Amino acid sequence: MNAMMNRSLLPFFVIGLLACNPPKAVVVAPPVAYAPSVIPDPEAELSQMGVDAVLWQSTSAEVYWIYQQAYAHAKEKLAKNLATESAKPAAVVVDIDETVLDNSPYQVGAIRNARTFDQADWKVWTDKASAAASPGALDFLLHTKSLGCEVFYITNRDIRERASTLKNLNDLGFPFADEAHLLLMDGASDKTERRANVSATHRIVLMVGDQLRDFDERFKDRAANYGKGVVDAMADSLSNYFILLPNPMYGTYRDAIQGKESDAERLRRTEEWFQRNGK
Ligand SMILES: [Mg+2]
Repeated sequence: MNAMMNRSLLPFFVIGLLACNPPKAVVVAPPVAYAPSVIPDPEAELSQMGVDAVLWQSTSAEVYWIYQQAYAHAKEKLAKNLATESAKPAAVVVDIDETVLDNSPYQVGAIRNARTFDQADWKVWTDKASAAASPGALDFLLHTKSLGCEVFYITNRDIRERASTLKNLNDLGFPFADEAHLLLMDGASDKTERRANVSATHRIVLMVGDQLRDFDERFKDRAANYGKGVVDAMADSLSNYFILLPNPMYGTYRDAIQGKESDAERLRRTEEWFQRNGK
């Protein structure tokens, strides 16, 4: 073959070679979100520590039933407490997150992306106004309304989340989902003042929340025995006027161990706790 023929036949020659020896498929590995052995990343490690809690909260039949059980119990308490006469109109106070709305999809996304809680990420979630109702919550609050009792939502969602929160509650059919009955966080997470504002005009006959602080700010103190002594001291009022729902995904219990500083510091304190307490 002369040089001209060589050039003109070259493409066919290459195709023939490829047909006999097809190139091996190139396997591209998916991006790795969590690889602590390669790159130490406190945020990713803390995020992974929440896996069991988030799986339990978002998928378990146990949680599905515990919420319904708790709200059935709430109906009994409500009937009992409404039997007492008062000059003021009666009101039930509920928290929102992990009480009447289920934010576990946000928590699942945070773990998928190796993220810990982030206010901007959270607002992207609440802007969607797409949280589902917690099991039993809607039925209980419609029942509350049918008894002539008002509902106040006291939440530590930020005041900038007012519109999306009202939309989410209204889309799901929750009663009293209006500006007058929604008390958002404007600065402090302490709900004492907002509860007092409701008490000024109403008789609070029952409260529901996933944190003991939804009932009383004294439960912020976890210094002695993780705050269990405060529970003992307030057992009567807790029993009569509060319904507690489960939430292992976040809360005062975890802050008491980890603090609320950087992810690195929270991770360090967590590891230190296990070092001290493991047998
Ligand atoms: Mg809550």
